[in-house]
Amino acid sequence: MKKRYNLRDKKIKEKRVEKKKGFIILLVFLGIVTIVVHSAWVNTKEVKKQLEQNLADVAQQNAHVLQSKLHAQHQLLNSLSGELQGVTQNTIKEQLSEFEIYMDSFHLKRFAYCFPDGVAYSTDGEVTDLSYREFYKQGMKGKCALSGVLSDALRAEHSQVNVMTIPIFDENENISGVFGLTYDTETFNEAMQIESFGGAGSSFALNEEGQIMMATGNDEIAVSDNLFDKLQEDEGNADSIAQLQGLIEKKSTGTGMLNLSGKNYYYCVPVELMEGDVTWYVITMIPSEILHERAHVLQINQYVTSILVAIFVCLGAVFIVAMLKAQNRKMYCLAYEDSVTGGANFEKFWLNMEDRNNGNGYLVSIGIANFSNVAIAAGMEAGDSMICKTWKIIDNSLNKGDFAAHVKDDVFLLFFADSDEKQVKERLGKLSKRISKESGVFHVFGLQMVCGVCELSENDDLELVYNKARTAREYAAMGAGFSCTFYNEVDNLKMQQEKELEERIPEALAQKEFEVWYQPKYSADDCMVVGSEALIRWREKNGELIPPGRFIPLLEKNGMIMKVDEYMFRSVCMQQKCWLEEGRKIYPVSINISRASLYYNDVVERYRKILQESGVSPEYIQLEITETVVGEKRDICDVLNEFRKLGVKILMDDFGTGASSLATLSTQCFDTLKLDKSLVDHIGDKGGEIMLCHIISMGQALGLHITAEGVEKQTQLEFLRDLKCDDIQGFYFARPMPAEEYESML
Ligand code: C2E
Ligand code: CA
Ligand code: CA
Repeated sequence: MKKRYNLRDKKIKEKRVEKKKGFIILLVFLGIVTIVVHSAWVNTKEVKKQLEQNLADVAQQNAHVLQSKLHAQHQLLNSLSGELQGVTQNTIKEQLSEFEIYMDSFHLKRFAYCFPDGVAYSTDGEVTDLSYREFYKQGMKGKCALSGVLSDALRAEHSQVNVMTIPIFDENENISGVFGLTYDTETFNEAMQIESFGGAGSSFALNEEGQIMMATGNDEIAVSDNLFDKLQEDEGNADSIAQLQGLIEKKSTGTGMLNLSGKNYYYCVPVELMEGDVTWYVITMIPSEILHERAHVLQINQYVTSILVAIFVCLGAVFIVAMLKAQNRKMYCLAYEDSVTGGANFEKFWLNMEDRNNGNGYLVSIGIANFSNVAIAAGMEAGDSMICKTWKIIDNSLNKGDFAAHVKDDVFLLFFADSDEKQVKERLGKLSKRISKESGVFHVFGLQMVCGVCELSENDDLELVYNKARTAREYAAMGAGFSCTFYNEVDNLKMQQEKELEERIPEALAQKEFEVWYQPKYSADDCMVVGSEALIRWREKNGELIPPGRFIPLLEKNGMIMKVDEYMFRSVCMQQKCWLEEGRKIYPVSINISRASLYYNDVVERYRKILQESGVSPEYIQLEITETVVGEKRDICDVLNEFRKLGVKILMDDFGTGASSLATLSTQCFDTLKLDKSLVDHIGDKGGEIMLCHIISMGQALGLHITAEGVEKQTQLEFLRDLKCDDIQGFYFARPMPAEEYESML
């Protein structure tokens, strides 16, 4: 019973291990997917950050360009301002004309000088009152100024210009005027043409009031527009305006969103001009969809990669699982599969027994009678092959609820879910027939099933039932041919005795407890002795005789029959030699040789040697073989013919019993036909007599010598004599007798 629990434990453990493995694989898989998705997310964020950084870089560059350009102009004004000290309305024009040489290289429209009264003189000869201009007012306060975009006040063409001014001081540090330069807004605008984001980005500069000072890359934003006015057109910009104004107030850099024909992402940089008197703001922006598009492409790439990785990991996991499964299967095979048949083994059978839901039925222990002959005759491989064939037959015969297993050698176990004893017997009978038929392939005949059956009811102790079925099989094995014994039929005492007997055989052989007895054969014609048959007897130490019928089947079962047959053959040869040496007349003696002995490859050679050693002429030695052995078997015929070549005659024993067929008569590997007692017993009834008559005439027609066995009556003798039967063997003349008795009888 311990075994059963061990198996169950094993099963549970295996299931647990499998669950654990599955869980670990799932964890690893989820881990990898999480890492991949997380890194995709982080990467996308990083890409966005980089694009933002790009935006900032472009804005900074633009700011730098703007600053350096305006700084150059401011420097110019400062350097020229020295010339203007003490200038008057009379000298101003002349003075200004000297500055004209700088105008081209600095892309300027003009220089102008504004006296404290607001009247301005310019290089292009105009004189205008500019006291209303903010830059004039700032200048008079001693401050530098850079105007917003103005329409040119000195020319009728109304082009857009910017004016940069500085105050001019006299020796007493009093403001004596405002000096400035004017440049075309458009010309300056071109300076800020740093391309960004493949042309998708735009940049512009604005002053503290929000007026656009220069703009590139966006048609919506034009110079002199007010950015805040523009932004106000879209309600969604309220927060953006506040944020931008906040940046301007603090003169700090920052980022944000602007709705200007779509959402834009911007970066704002303050640019200090005119020695800090003026601050402009450079804003670079890109449509947010571009930013997202770029991030999106990358994100998609990342997710595609992660999906691919996940699929790859999945496939890997599936592969690992498949491998583990294959390994498990292998382990399962090792644990539950029979190595010979590939079907269930004993362990598996036990599991099935436990899992059968307490169903009632019959447990059958199956053995194959004479199976050892297959191995002996055709080799181990053929033995295995026969086991496989037997297994297939058994397996194919299973109904719903049945199961079976190969245990070892020629032993199988079967569970029939049937409820009827008769049905079980019938099914087993059919199985045995099929197995017997199959065994023909191996040129081994008479393979029959030996079954022990025990009924199994709910809650029965399985091991007990198993042992009972096995015991019943062992009991069944004592019979000949197919037998099916139910445990309740087992005669335990008899079985015990047989077992003990079997165990004693090896010692009996060693102790020479086997004796040769002789039963004479007589000529039917003149009732003279013509020979004898050697019959074995086992004389126990206590002097008791055991008849061959009790131990020959045991010897055949355990394979020792070969030794015993050889022992008998040698004994007879030696006895004949002895008689010859004593100068006696000797007669042929026939010795029984079991079919199992004939399967020995070197049987002829061994017997030849013994014969040769004895020096007895082969005509005095004959062999009796039961005819069922031969059947359609050619190999056996070859063996028999080899014996005949030695000069040993072959007698077909027991003709007329069992599966004897008339066809065997024509095999031409026999010299003598021994009619079985059962045929002789039919003398007296008409049908039997006719049959006997035909058998004898047919045998004679085939050139066979005819011997009748078991002749007990005078009438039988006379009948056989009339049919021209050659020899008679039977109690009518003599019973088997010990050698000495036979010797003196002769
Ligand atoms: P078998 O070869 O057919 O031997 C003839 C059997 O019939 C012998 O039984 C013999 O005593 C018996 N017998 C002979 N005449 C009569 C008769 O008129 N009436 C009756 N009722 N019986 C008669 P035994 O000696 O008991 O042998 C039984 C069987 O044991 C033999 O049958 C043979 O198959 C086997 N056997 C005996 N000795 C050997 C042996 O040395 N080797 C092998 N392999 N088998 C042997
Ligand atoms: Ca015989
Ligand atoms: Ca016989």
